[in-house]
Amino acid sequence: MTTTNIAESMNAKLKDARKLPITALANHLRGILQEWFNEHQSTASSWNSTLTKWAEEKVQKNQNRGLRMSVSSINHYALQVHEADLYHIVDLNGKSCTCRRFDLNQLPCVHATATCRICNTSVYNMYSKMYIDNAIVLAYAEPIWPVGNKSEWSVPEEVQNGVVLPPIRQVVSGRRKTNIILSHGRKG
Ligand SMILES: [Zn+2]
Repeated sequence: MTTTNIAESMNAKLKDARKLPITALANHLRGILQEWFNEHQSTASSWNSTLTKWAEEKVQKNQNRGLRMSVSSINHYALQVHEADLYHIVDLNGKSCTCRRFDLNQLPCVHATATCRICNTSVYNMYSKMYIDNAIVLAYAEPIWPVGNKSEWSVPEEVQNGVVLPPIRQVVSGRRKTNIILSHGRKG
């Protein structure tokens, strides 16, 4: 499934379930998270690299591209990296590059990897700790448990007796839209 953001991914996943009553929808969502947490935990546990698979591939790709770039020092932490007719400046102290990818992804961009050759440092000193595979293992360490059978629930009396009314809103005539309205230039 290719979508542009997480909200669209969830919308696509809940396309049919969102017609359910709210409690059934909430339980459906919990079930999806239970499945995802289990899958991600198992996948992350099977990795044996320093970084996550995605980050490892990205760094390797940048490193290979960086081999073709020439680098000159400005001072002991700022370096100029030449890429065709352009150049970028990498700040090793601030983990920043004028291409902004280093700053945004917190992974060494192609220019930052190129500086490693003359700084005698490893690209593996430059990434954010969130890309360490153990960080992913820990993120999914807590499983999502089922809520248990309804007959076993312990519901406080004030909750049982509470009446929740729907919000007051104007109901428009006609069928409600269920499909996303695409913005200009996007394809379904
Ligand atoms: Zn860069």
